[in-house]
Amino acid sequence: MSSSDWLIIGGGAAGLAAARTAAARGRTVTLLEASAAAGKKILAAGGGRCNIGNLALTERGVDYGKFYGAAKNFVKPALSALPSMREFFQPLGATLIAHGQRLYPADERGATILSALTGTPPFVHHPQITAHFLCPIVALRQDGDGWQAVAGDGRRFFAARVLLATGGVNAATREILQALGYAVTPLLPALAPLTVAGFGDLAGVSVPQVEAWRVAASQSKIGRVAAPRRKFSGDLLFTHHGLSGPAILDLSGEVAAEVAAQGQSEIAINLAPALTAAEFAAWRVGGQPLKNRLPLPERLAVKILRSVALAPQQRAAELTAAQSRSLWTALTAHRFLLTQLTPMNQAMVTRGGVALDEVEAKTLAGRRHKNLYFAGEILDVDGVSGGFNLQWAIAGGRLVASV
Ligand SMILES: Cc1cc2nc3c(=O)[nH]c(=O)nc-3n(C[C@H](O)[C@H](O)[C@H](O)COP(=O)(O)OP(=O)(O)OC[C@H]3O[C@@H](n4cnc5c(N)ncnc54)[C@H](O)[C@@H]3O)c2cc1C
Repeated sequence: MSSSDWLIIGGGAAGLAAARTAAARGRTVTLLEASAAAGKKILAAGGGRCNIGNLALTERGVDYGKFYGAAKNFVKPALSALPSMREFFQPLGATLIAHGQRLYPADERGATILSALTGTPPFVHHPQITAHFLCPIVALRQDGDGWQAVAGDGRRFFAARVLLATGGVNAATREILQALGYAVTPLLPALAPLTVAGFGDLAGVSVPQVEAWRVAASQSKIGRVAAPRRKFSGDLLFTHHGLSGPAILDLSGEVAAEVAAQGQSEIAINLAPALTAAEFAAWRVGGQPLKNRLPLPERLAVKILRSVALAPQQRAAELTAAQSRSLWTALTAHRFLLTQLTPMNQAMVTRGGVALDEVEAKTLAGRRHKNLYFAGEILDVDGVSGGFNLQWAIAGGRLVASV
């Protein structure tokens, strides 16, 4: 059985970036992928347009906590070692463009990123990389100073070093990690819609540029819950099952952790961040019905008014001081109670994974073994929307394979 410098398990963004980086350094790579093709999520990312990274990560003095929460110190070495996503992809044949801070391939097709990483067809003619598809790895064993990976059909592969880049922890990976003694933190949906009862009648209603945040401070059994509270902004969309849109997706990981730990979580949404207290006070002079005054779609305006026992036709001028205060709060810090976890298959990213204290941030090497590395979503890192998850996967794979 032949042996290579690297065994890379998982052909997603992290594994592919590692394979290309290792090959460019003259290393031989055996890439082992469970499914029939590499990079499925790269093709699905950003609705097919593939938001591959974010320029905010290359700004001086970047606040990693804003994008990765409690994992901010852990992600820093890998992300800061990748000075520019554009410089990473240019030599591979993909030019990146920016929409605001978000980076995309110039033709806005995920396939361009994938073929930059793999060639077309994938790795068939790459002298340094041998790829095996339909090759799920079910066991990983130390073999002297190196490693041996065993596939589901019994095939065995050997290398000096191994990278586990299998994405959000699945059953096979969990068994491998358990056998090696690595702790996995609870797996929860992140970048997912929130399930809230009682708003199905508003399905399809959207509100531009709201602000959303988690209300309660909690001393949780899951350490990540206690991370500093962050405010997220973006459009809000009501769905048949609850809430969605960028601000909600970004908040969803924190909420899921709190629901898992405490059984519930409460969020507040400022539905009208552009409305000032002075503008609101001035409404009381006018004679319009309240439902026409609220800067919201009418169906939502009526629901908000009813939530504070106000009739839609009531005139703003008739509000008592107490009613006015309740309405202001309902508009600018509307509370939603969440008690259900959204199913994992609706999540774009898994929150939770290999515990970060078991991995060396500077190299992404496992602390329990020599020559075993982790990169991408398998680790307990989840970023907000905007290209932060793919950039983390690429940066991690690149860092690991730079040794
Ligand atoms: C619909 C959708 C849209 C998204 N859009 C964006 C976006 O626009 N921007 C962004 O930054 N992020 C986005 N994300 C998140 C991003 O795609 C992931 O965070 C990123 O792809 C993770 O890369 P990875 O290499 O760690 O894992 P993955 O991409 O999940 O790759 C892991 C690979 O390992 C393989 N594998 C698993 N187990 C085994 C095993 N036992 N043996 C062998 N192989 C195995 C899997 O088949 C898979 O190919 C999106 C995610 C989804 C689902």
